[in-house]
Amino acid sequence: METAEIRRRFLSFYESKGHTIVPSSPLVYDDPNLLFVNAGMVPFKPYFLGQQAPLWDRATSVQKCVRTGDIEEVGKTSRHGTFFQMNGNFAFGDYFKEGAIRFAWELITTPQGQGGYGLDADKIWPTVYEDDDEAYELWHKMIGIPAERITRRGKLDNYWHMGVPGPGGPCSELYLDRGPEYGREGGPAVDEDRYLEFWNLVFMQYELSAVRAKDDFDIAGELPKKNIDTGMGLERMATLLQGVDNLYEIDEVYPVLDRAAELTGKKYGAHSGHAASESHPDDVRLRVVADHVRSSLMLIGDGVTPGNEGRGYVLRRMLRRAVRSMRLLGYDEPSLPLLLPVSVERMKNSYPELEAGFDRISQIAYAEEEAFRRTLASGTTILDTAVAKTKSTGGSTLAGDQAFQLHDTYGFPIDLTLEMASEQGLEVDRAGFTRLMEEQRNRAKADAKSKKGGHADTVVWKDLRALGATDWRAYQELTSDAKVLGIIVDGERVEELEPGRRGQVVLDRTPFYAESGGQIADEGVITADGAHLKVIDVQRPVKGLVAHTVEVLTGPLRVGQDVSAEVDADWRISACQAHSGTHVVHAALRQVLGPTALQSGSYNKPGYLRLDFAWGQGLSPETRSEIEEVANLAVRQDLPVSAQYMTLPAAREFGALALFGENYDEQVRVIEIGGPWSRELCGGTHVGHSSQIGALTVTGESSVGSGVRRLEAFVGMEALHYLAKERALVAELTDIVKVQPGELKERVAALVARVRDAERELEKLRREQVQASTGKLVEYAHDVDGVRVLTHDAGDGTTADDLRTMVLDLRNRLGEAAPSVVALTGVAGGRPAIVVATNAGARDRGVKAGALVRLAAQTLGGGGGGKDDLAQGGGTDPSRTGEALGQIDRAVQAATQGAG
Ligand code: ATP
Ligand code: MG
Repeated sequence: METAEIRRRFLSFYESKGHTIVPSSPLVYDDPNLLFVNAGMVPFKPYFLGQQAPLWDRATSVQKCVRTGDIEEVGKTSRHGTFFQMNGNFAFGDYFKEGAIRFAWELITTPQGQGGYGLDADKIWPTVYEDDDEAYELWHKMIGIPAERITRRGKLDNYWHMGVPGPGGPCSELYLDRGPEYGREGGPAVDEDRYLEFWNLVFMQYELSAVRAKDDFDIAGELPKKNIDTGMGLERMATLLQGVDNLYEIDEVYPVLDRAAELTGKKYGAHSGHAASESHPDDVRLRVVADHVRSSLMLIGDGVTPGNEGRGYVLRRMLRRAVRSMRLLGYDEPSLPLLLPVSVERMKNSYPELEAGFDRISQIAYAEEEAFRRTLASGTTILDTAVAKTKSTGGSTLAGDQAFQLHDTYGFPIDLTLEMASEQGLEVDRAGFTRLMEEQRNRAKADAKSKKGGHADTVVWKDLRALGATDWRAYQELTSDAKVLGIIVDGERVEELEPGRRGQVVLDRTPFYAESGGQIADEGVITADGAHLKVIDVQRPVKGLVAHTVEVLTGPLRVGQDVSAEVDADWRISACQAHSGTHVVHAALRQVLGPTALQSGSYNKPGYLRLDFAWGQGLSPETRSEIEEVANLAVRQDLPVSAQYMTLPAAREFGALALFGENYDEQVRVIEIGGPWSRELCGGTHVGHSSQIGALTVTGESSVGSGVRRLEAFVGMEALHYLAKERALVAELTDIVKVQPGELKERVAALVARVRDAERELEKLRREQVQASTGKLVEYAHDVDGVRVLTHDAGDGTTADDLRTMVLDLRNRLGEAAPSVVALTGVAGGRPAIVVATNAGARDRGVKAGALVRLAAQTLGGGGGGKDDLAQGGGTDPSRTGEALGQIDRAVQAATQGAG
């Protein structure tokens, strides 16, 4: 049975049981704790948490999911995809355990000819939570499954909660026994590959008051309204119904694997057994390619672009891992252009928007592969240099900071560094690398936390939200009379806030715009009898609730107090200019570049805006000017700006642009500028007419990752200030170089050329000088036990390259008549270097350059080495070059005596 058919049967089965079909939400969801939607229940969370009244009693969906935690499992087990689809049925205070079990059983055991999945009832093994006798009895008595096929499992396997206080409850999972060729007998607890889990039924039954770990929590009591949340893995059901070994072999995934095998000349499956544990490494790699290509397609389709953190990093990692796996399989050419089209061909039936957006999607993916190929090329050189340096100082381990730098700056994955270093006989300081990664991650986390006002602790907000939604008046007024509903300091509710302190304040009504949709929060003040507070940030920690981060200037402020909340009017006008300006620039971009130049992110604050958009290459100065021109024309035409509300499908019909990955309510707000010229879904604040934007100056355009460009602009008075500053700069420059503005460019170019010539001349002179003075040094050669030894400190400003030239020159001059050794030190950039050369006679007497350098370089606080005839080293302490040279003398003496 095709995957599409399994999906269709699921939805129509539950629809026939009174469930409303709810479309999948995008993979990117507006939840600070989630990178991607990872289960079917995510979009229904507000209902389960009691934050919103459910729109239906029963719902069903096929939800797109990505689980980043499963990335390492891909290909190694038979059942983990990074992207997968979860079929679910949900009941909100409606049917409970009995209903959920009955429905699931009916669907899976009804014969295929009668619309079900036709699984063999005797091979189904349910699990239940150890104390859940009710579920056990339902499976045993009501359905009739023999006791030996029902497994009771503990909290780690069969208990569900969200990791925070809130709803929780036992689950019951369904496994199918795939037979002895897949592994050991004994049920799900013994072998999770042979017994394949395909469905999880969650019974939300309790209110948890504290959650310390997956298996450590306190139950406060029964939920007043019990809920059902189930998840059936669509790919896993397809694996079972298509009679294949694993989910990489189903109809939606296998064609990519097949193409990859063809390109790499591998015979998939030839060296593997049925069980995942009996897989040949090449087969695992082919599965990784197929999985990651599909996941990347789905992620880019939902608006994710490759980047160095968060979601973008996950995507980048998957794309690169796919490309890298192809290389390891022996395919060195660009591979995505041959694989991605195969994947979209399979996925477009369920997701037609992938086909419509494929130009954009493929452009982003291919650009990332190109970038990675360049990275591999340049990173390899950098890695080689690092390896050579490590070896020259006698080390055998590549430092953790070098591996980290390769990763951080050049996007070099650590497994690649490990592998390539080991090819050259080096290990990598993994612990050091991991520590640096950890530090970076913590920094990022701390940033994110301070940014969002640390609203990880959702209970406090939930409690406040229970008092009612904030009456949000940002579109209507700049000043609101309000009452203080709550004050929060460090995640705890307090009764008052003293002068000098910071905290978060929730009011019953507010005119403040909370940061969202790229527009930053309003600034302003909150005043009350005896209290004056500065508003620093405004966020929406949970839906419907506005929290003001404030600093108390005079106070205290108390809960229950009447206040006046006042947005800074100048600030707001500038904020409106910037946000409307962003829409104007976006429309201008699309007018000039075409409709594929779609915004992927934006940020605006008074006076400034930036816009990220999908585009493969840099814009020429002419194109930039054209965009600026079109935007300013729209400003001059004084187009009306208006807002209207409609349903999401109506807005789509209307041609309004929706940013991917945003989550929209039932009613969405569409901002129009000049009618159809610019129509976008947007919750921001805007000017009334485009002329109010004032001037608009594009100041820069740059790359922010493959396939994404960033345009920056100043608006309103800031644009004017920017131009005035540039004008002043030109005036200063013309004054310095003493020309008219029109001649400035030529004059500066000429000056730069002259400086370059002068530098070259200087370098030539310096080299000549070094050579001339080298000759004289021969005189310093002195005799040590019959060996002519020449040691000299060439001083500051002599590079290792200089030293080497000089040493070879001097060894030549000393000739072969007698044994001789030349050792020179120098300092460049504060670091000392030493180079030693020997002639044949000296080597016969046992004097070896490599040994001498190792000794001397140690004195310099470093290391080095080389051959018997020529060697080089360096260190960190420039004050000890004299000492190091003294050592050479003594070492020559020791060597000759040893040899004699
Ligand atoms: P497993 O232990 O096999 O990783 P899970 O217990 O993490 O599964 P749940 O969180 O219960 O899975 O998710 C519900 C259903 O979603 C599972 O029964 C399975 O069918 C499916 N599922 C979960 N993770 C994946 C995945 N990575 N790829 C494909 N399907 C998955
Ligand atoms: Mg899992």
